[in-house]
Amino acid sequence: MSSPAKKRKRDGPEPGPQRSIASFFKGSAAKQTPEPASSSTSDTDKQHLSDEALARKLQEEWNQEDIAPVTDNVAKTESTPAEAAVAKPESLQSPTKAKQKHTIALQSSAGTEDTVSLAVPLDQSPLTFDSTKYAEELKAHWSAEGGSASYALLTRAFVLANATTSRIKIVDTLVNFLRILIEGDPSSVLPAVWLATNSISPPYDESELGLGGSSISKALKKIYGLDNQGLKTLYDKYGDAGDVAFEAKKRQSFTLIRPKPLKIQGVYQSLRKIAASKGSGSQETKQRIVEKLLQDTRGAEESRYIVRTLVQNLRIGAVKTTMLIALARAFLFSKPPGAGFPVYSQQALASLKKENLSDIYNTAEETVKASYARHPNYDDLVPCLLEIGVAEELLLRCGLQLHIPLRPMLGSITRDLSDMLTKLQGRDFSCEYKYDGQRAQVHCDEKGRVSIFSRHLENMTEKYPDLVSLVPEIRGESVSSFILEGEVVAVDQETGDLQTFQMLSNRAKKDVQLGAIKINVCLFAFDLMYLNGAALLDRPFRERRELLRSVFVEIPGRFTWVKSLDATSADSEAVLEFFKGATDSKCEGIMVKVLDNVPKTASPDDPPPDAPKTPKGNRRKALLSTYEPDKRLESWLKVKKDYSTSSETLDLIPVAGWHGQGRKAKWWSPILLAVRNPETGSLEAVTKCMSGFTDKFYQANKDKYAEGSTNVISRPGYVDYAGEPDVWFNPQEVWEMAFADITLSPTYTAAIGLVSDERGLSLRFPRFLRVREDKSIDEASTADYLALLWRKQSERAELEAGQPGADEKLGWQDE
Ligand code: ATP
Repeated sequence: MSSPAKKRKRDGPEPGPQRSIASFFKGSAAKQTPEPASSSTSDTDKQHLSDEALARKLQEEWNQEDIAPVTDNVAKTESTPAEAAVAKPESLQSPTKAKQKHTIALQSSAGTEDTVSLAVPLDQSPLTFDSTKYAEELKAHWSAEGGSASYALLTRAFVLANATTSRIKIVDTLVNFLRILIEGDPSSVLPAVWLATNSISPPYDESELGLGGSSISKALKKIYGLDNQGLKTLYDKYGDAGDVAFEAKKRQSFTLIRPKPLKIQGVYQSLRKIAASKGSGSQETKQRIVEKLLQDTRGAEESRYIVRTLVQNLRIGAVKTTMLIALARAFLFSKPPGAGFPVYSQQALASLKKENLSDIYNTAEETVKASYARHPNYDDLVPCLLEIGVAEELLLRCGLQLHIPLRPMLGSITRDLSDMLTKLQGRDFSCEYKYDGQRAQVHCDEKGRVSIFSRHLENMTEKYPDLVSLVPEIRGESVSSFILEGEVVAVDQETGDLQTFQMLSNRAKKDVQLGAIKINVCLFAFDLMYLNGAALLDRPFRERRELLRSVFVEIPGRFTWVKSLDATSADSEAVLEFFKGATDSKCEGIMVKVLDNVPKTASPDDPPPDAPKTPKGNRRKALLSTYEPDKRLESWLKVKKDYSTSSETLDLIPVAGWHGQGRKAKWWSPILLAVRNPETGSLEAVTKCMSGFTDKFYQANKDKYAEGSTNVISRPGYVDYAGEPDVWFNPQEVWEMAFADITLSPTYTAAIGLVSDERGLSLRFPRFLRVREDKSIDEASTADYLALLWRKQSERAELEAGQPGADEKLGWQDE
C-alpha cells in the first residue's frame, strides 16, 4: 500500500506556474505604490489581492516584526510601538533596495529549499554513513545562516521516514539524523527529539498546543493567499492538513525568503510558546506564531511537516520505541565535541558479525528503554545521554524518581485457567482479583506531597482528592516516602459493594472537591515500587507485597489489599474456586503473578526433562518476579472471565467510514475498524461496524470526523485495507467492540500470516460497546491478540466436536 508521499514520489513533482523574481519586478503590480501599513492582513483583503500585492502586504508586516531582535527564528509575536516606528520607513523602501540590504528578498518559490540538507543520505546504513563529514558540512552551512541546526534537516529525515514502511530504514534515518546533531549541534538534539516524537512535554505534564483546525486553515489562507474555495478544494482533494499545506506552498507563485531559515530549536520554542499562551488574547498570539512558522518555511515539504506537527499528526511511522532505539544506537557511534564517554569506531562496528552487532545494539537499547520506562521525560534523558552516553549510570541519573510516573508493568493474556496453570508450572504464584476500575500509581514524598498517575501517566491528583487525603492515614509510622500501585474502584458507601467501571467513569476528571464527592472509591493496592528513598523494582514480588502489607495501614472500604490466593499449578481446584469468587464479585477475572525469581526447590509440578519444548526450543523462559516497567511479561498473566469468544471484546481503532444509507444518511455508517500491528506500525482493517451506536453517538462521530476538518485525512499508507471508504479518519481513539465470532477472511488483512498466509481475520456481527477513553491508539488490540482469540475459538470448537487440535487444523488451512 502506498503512502501519499510514496505516491507523490512515483508521480514526480507537479509542474506549477512559477514566476521569477525578475518577472515580479517587471510586473505592473510592482510599480504600484505599496499599500499602506496595517497591523495585519485580513482574509477578505487577500481574496482581492494579486500575488504581488499580497506579497507586499505580508512583506510589510514582517518588516515591522523584524525590527525587534529574535532568537534564531523563534516566532516574534509582539513588537513595541517604538520598534514599529523604526520599522515603518524600512517597510516602505523598494523591494530592490530591500534585496540589496539582504533583509528580505522576493523570489519565485522554485529553488527555495535547503539543497545542502536535501543532499544528505540519512537513510544509509549507520555502518557506512559518514556522520562526521556531513556534520562538518552542515555546521558550515548553518553558521552562514544563524548557527544552529536547520529545520530543513529534520524535514529531510521526516520525508525519508515517510517514504518507507521498513522499520529498519526509519530507525537508520533517525540514527543518522541524531548523529549529525550530536556531533554538529548537540543543543538541537533535545528539541529534535520532541519534534520527531510529535510531542512537547511528557504525558504527565499537561502542556497542549490547543490549536483548532480553524486556526490552521486561517493561517493557510493568509500565508499562502488562498480563499475559502481554494482551501476547500485542496482539503477535498488531499484530506490531510499537511498535504494541503504542501500543495498550497508548491502552488504559491512567490516565496518571500527571510534571511534566516527555520531552525529546529526555533520551531520547538514556538510550539512551547503556543502551549504556554493562556488567557485573554492567547488565541491571537497562537495564531501569529502559527502564521510566522508557515511564512518561514522554505519549500513545500517544510510546510507539510510544520502543519502536521501543529495538528499533532506527524505520520512518519515512528513510535516511541523507535526513538528510544535510535537514541541508543546514535550514542554508540557519536558523541558531542569534548564529551568524555567512549563510543565505538564505525569500522569496528562494521566489522562485527551480525549477532555481535545486535548484542551491542540490544544492550544499549535495553538501557535507554529501561531509563525511559522509569523516567519518561526526554528533558532529563537527552541531557544525560549527551553527558555520559549509553551507560549503566543512566539508570541512576535518570531512573525512578518521586512525582515522575514510571510506565506500568503489564500482564499477558492467557486463553484460560488451564493455559495459565501450564505456563506457571513449578512456580509459586499469587492469584489476585482483577478489579474493574482505574489503575493508579500513588507517589508520596517525605513532606507528604502526593501525586497520583493513571495507567497512561496522566496526572490524576485532582481527580482523587479523597485518595490524597487518605495518605496520612494509610502511611504507617515507618514510611517516609513511597510509590505504590493499585486499582481504584467505585464502591457503594453503605454496603461496600464493588460497582462498575461505568460508575467510576462518572467522576469528573479535574477539580473534584472533597466535600462534593458522589462516587465513592476504594484503592485496592497490589504493588510497592519505592519505599523510603529506595527503589524496590529488583526485589521479588513476594518481598514487595510483604512490605506493602506490613508498613501500610488498611482502612476498610477505602484502602485495602487486592484479594489474593497464593498457589501452585497443583492447586487447580482452589484456583478455580478463587476465580469463581472473583467473577461473582463483579471482577473481570484474575491477575496471576509469579512470587519469586527462581523456583525454590524442584517440585512435582516441574516439567519432566523430556517435556515438550516451546517453539523457540527453550523448555521455559526463567520468569522473573521483579517489577519490570513498561514490559508485558509472562510473570504477570491475565485470566479473564469469559471463556467463550463471543463475550471477549476487542479494542479497535476507527479508521474510515462510508456515507450512511436511509435514516443514517447524515452520519458515517458503517465504520471501518482496525487492529494495530506493533511490528510494522500499520493498522490492519478487521471489520466494518454499524451496530451498537446510538443516534447521539453517530452525530457526535460525524461532527468529530467532519469532512474538511483535520480529523479527516487522505488515504493513509499505514492502514491496510484494499476497499474504498468515503472518508478516512485520522486514527486517534479506541473503541471496545463485541462480536459473535472470528472468521477467516479473504477481504480483511488483520493478522494475515499469523493464522493463514493468504487470509486475514474478521469479526462476525461486530457491535460497538464503548469508547475506551483510558486507551490511546498505542494500546489498541494487536493482530497477535486477535490471532490468539481465533486460536482459542478454534480449540473450543474442536473440543466440542472432538476434532483434532488447533495446530493440526492450522496446518491444514495453510496448505
Ligand atoms: P493492559 O493494561 O494490560 O494493557 P487493558 O488496559 O486492556 O490492558 P486489562 O487487560 O483489562 O487492561 O488488564 C490490565 C489492568 O487490570 C491493569 O492495568 C489494572 O488497571 C487492572 N487490574 C485490576 N486488578 C489488578 C491487579 N490485581 N493487579 C494488576 N492489575 C490489576
